[in-house]
Amino acid sequence: MKRFLALIIVMGFGVVGLHHAAAEQSSRPVYEKTGNVIWDRETDEKMIALTFDDGPDPQYTPEILEVLAKHNAKATFFVLGMHAKQFPNIVHRQMLEGHEIGNHTYHHIYSIKSKKKLQAELDATADVIEQITKRRPQLYRPVGGDYNDLIIDTAVENDYLVVLWSWHQDTHDWKNPGVDKIVDHVLSGIGPGDVILFHDSGGDRSQTVDALDKILTELDKEGYEYVTMSQLLARSETPSRIMK
Ligand SMILES: [Zn+2]
Repeated sequence: MKRFLALIIVMGFGVVGLHHAAAEQSSRPVYEKTGNVIWDRETDEKMIALTFDDGPDPQYTPEILEVLAKHNAKATFFVLGMHAKQFPNIVHRQMLEGHEIGNHTYHHIYSIKSKKKLQAELDATADVIEQITKRRPQLYRPVGGDYNDLIIDTAVENDYLVVLWSWHQDTHDWKNPGVDKIVDHVLSGIGPGDVILFHDSGGDRSQTVDALDKILTELDKEGYEYVTMSQLLARSETPSRIMK
């Protein structure tokens, strides 16, 4: 059922893509086969990857870190360079607590049309992350989840793996739909290998914080483990470019 739904979404998304994407875009299976773009993974292990975009935020990111620690959960934060530069202590704490830091560009520019510009955005962010964590990020999440040949080629040339999310696990938390709505959305479709999209910045994220605690409380009972993207990739069946 999940696969069938995914197929319909692939078809629908393809049509939307034709209308709005200026750069050349292929369908998900074409990109997925290359191993350069990840949506989610096939696995029998009860593990999922929690991902947070747009941070760090001085209020909500520490609150999210508290919830994660309470549930012994590791997550992946796709930070913005401009925010990481402003709040380096939070990024440092994320690293110390075993979370993974990914690149979400510096200024969060939508529909970037120049390879050079995108590369500058990625480099500037990687520089900030490296200054704080002593490691350059390997994962890149495009702004708005947009993917096309320009974005993916630039990522690959710069040794990034492009990480999107499970299409059934976009929480839309940035719209503040209500805690219960976020919780129900995630729990109703949850399965091993899912990659879940949250946001820890960009406005009042208190619903995200509360929903996360409720979601993890339920999933703890089901025996789920919460791993970083790299852990998910290393432990799941579909081969990936960055697996060593
Ligand atoms: Zn974003």
